[in-house]
Amino acid sequence: MTVDGRTAVSFYLDDVGPYVTEFSKEGKPMHPVPVSALEEFAEFVKEQGLAGAVSVIPGLNCLLTEPKNDLERDYAKFVGRLSTYNLDAHMEIMTHGPLFNFDEMKPIEGTSEAEWLDDPNVPLEEYLRYFRNTIRVGRKLGVTYTGLSTPGTHPKMNPNVWKALARLADEGEFPNPAVPVFAVIDESPPVMRPVLVARSGRGASYDMPSGVWDYIASWRNSPDWIDVDRYLTPQGKGRMADLIRNGSPTAIFHMHWQGLNPATGLGWPAFQELIRRLNDQFGDRIVWKRPSEIALEAYKNLDF
Ligand SMILES: [Zn+2]
Repeated sequence: MTVDGRTAVSFYLDDVGPYVTEFSKEGKPMHPVPVSALEEFAEFVKEQGLAGAVSVIPGLNCLLTEPKNDLERDYAKFVGRLSTYNLDAHMEIMTHGPLFNFDEMKPIEGTSEAEWLDDPNVPLEEYLRYFRNTIRVGRKLGVTYTGLSTPGTHPKMNPNVWKALARLADEGEFPNPAVPVFAVIDESPPVMRPVLVARSGRGASYDMPSGVWDYIASWRNSPDWIDVDRYLTPQGKGRMADLIRNGSPTAIFHMHWQGLNPATGLGWPAFQELIRRLNDQFGDRIVWKRPSEIALEAYKNLDF
C-alpha cells in the first residue's frame, strides 16, 4: 500500500500501432487508425490525471523506423512523446508476431515471439541480445522503454526472460533499476502487489499482473466484451472496487488498442465511463501511477 493507504492504480494499453486487425470480422481485415486517436487518448490521460503504460511495437504490421506512408510517419513521431503524457512505453517485443532479424531489419518466418518467450531452451544471452536490439530500435524512435508487456499471457515464461530484464536494468538499458513486467492476468487475489522475480546486480524485474480481464471491447473489438460493471458498478461492486476496498497496494488493469482507440474502438466510451466511476466512488482512495513508478517504489521498499 502507498504511504497514505491509497491504492496505486494503473493500466497497460497493448497492441498500439497505426493498424489494427479486426479479429471478430470475417477474413480478419486490418484497417488504419489515425494518430489523432492516440493523441486523443493521451490527452484524456493527461487531463484526467491518469497514468499507465502504452506498448510501442516498432515492427507491428509495419516498421516504424522505416515508415512507408504518412500514417506510419505520424506514429513514429508521436510515440517519442508518450512520456510527456505520464505514459510509460513498454516493449511488447519487436513485432508482437514473428521473431525479428535485426541485421536485416525484417521478420523471420516461423517461431513467434510469444512461443520464444516460453521456450525453456532459449539461453539468457539470446534474450539479452534480442531485448537490447529492441531497446535500440526504440531509442531511434525517441522511446525509452521502461518495462515489458508480453504478447499473449505467459504464466510459465522462461526464467531467463526475467533474468535478462534484471541484467539489462543493471547495465542501465532501462531508466530505472526496477523493470515492471505484465505477463499474466489474475482475477483471484484479494490484494495485489509487485512480486520480485529476478535480480542481477542492482537490477530487478517485477511481475505486475493485470487484475482483471479486458472488458473494454478487448482485442476482439467486440460489443460482447464491453462491461464496465466488471470493474466497477454504479453501486460500488466489481473487481477494481474489491481491490481498492481490500486496501490492495495496486489495482492494475489492461486494455487493447483494437477495442480502446477513440477512432474505431467500441470501448472508448466504456473506458471514459470507468474513469468517471473510479473518480466518483474512489477518487480519494486511489492514486494513479505509471507501472515504472510502482515497480521503483517496490524496489526501494518505500511503499510496499
Ligand atoms: Zn498484445
